[in-house]
Amino acid sequence: MSTTTNNLLDGKALAERIQSQLKAQIEALSPQIGRSPGLAVVMVGDNPASAAYVRNKERACANVGIASFGQHFPADTSQLELEQVIHALNQDERVDGILVQLPLPEHLDSVALLHQIEPNKDADGLHPLSLGRLVRQEPGLRSCTPAGVMRLLQEYQVDLKGKQAVVVGRSILVGKPLALMLLEADATVAIAHSKSHDLQSITKQGDILIPAVGRPGLITAAMVKPGAVVVDVGISRVTDANGKSRLVGDVDFDSVQKVAQLITPVPGGVGPMTVAMLLQNTFNSYCQLHGISV
Ligand code: NAP
Repeated sequence: MSTTTNNLLDGKALAERIQSQLKAQIEALSPQIGRSPGLAVVMVGDNPASAAYVRNKERACANVGIASFGQHFPADTSQLELEQVIHALNQDERVDGILVQLPLPEHLDSVALLHQIEPNKDADGLHPLSLGRLVRQEPGLRSCTPAGVMRLLQEYQVDLKGKQAVVVGRSILVGKPLALMLLEADATVAIAHSKSHDLQSITKQGDILIPAVGRPGLITAAMVKPGAVVVDVGISRVTDANGKSRLVGDVDFDSVQKVAQLITPVPGGVGPMTVAMLLQNTFNSYCQLHGISV
């Protein structure tokens, strides 16, 4: 359990601890197995945000001793070419995890591509089999961002049993799998979205409130139950009055911090946890392949 003198859920510090543990485990296992774990991040086009995320992931891999088999393709790469790349990575014995960096350029069908990933190498937990295992509460690779949120709540011993959790956002990437994970942890779960009426009356119920929308300032102090735990998944880039660009979440941090029991900063909250869970998933696949229980 983390000790804290303020009310921050420090995802950066926890992610660093997870990375140190993984590094030690990989150092111990690699000589025995004869190779390091491997992760392939497939990126298409030159979206600057995606490029930054991919660099971050590859840097994190290097930090813990996971080999990167990153492949970056021009924006006009065809669906067929990418499917062939995925098939080759599925067969590649050095690769334990495959991730397709989203969003893809518009002419590509990302869902069809994700279906091509060998489920045991589904580092991002987005293959229908991984999602089906989550629905059935069977062991499997879990989506990284929701898994990171759950790990953070667990680290700070946030009691979920019987508590009202409110997730804002229902994407397949974050909102839906997160709601299922909270349900699995015995929370009572509400999911709000863009068609929900009177968002404030829903968010105000949340003992645990988790916005995953992508709208800066969407959640104000008036929308938060006093004493709630607030985990801000949203990430948006904004330019301030001085022309300086910075990352912000969905929560109006300064006002909400005063009413929340615990709150994640942005950056430094869920973002680093997502990367840590990606490394953890890759390591878990590597162990599973070699019959090592984790
Ligand atoms: P998404 O696919 O665009 O989904 C956004 C969700 O928000 C949708 O379900 C949408 O509802 C809902 N929504 C939009 N406007 C709303 C409103 N005014 N009130 C209530 N709900 C509203 O986005 P995503 O991929 O889930 O990502 C969400 C955010 O998390 C983004 O800022 C993204 O950058 C961030 N993110 C962060 C991490 C991380 O590591 N921290 C990882 C992934 C994503 P409808 O379904 O009705 O359209």
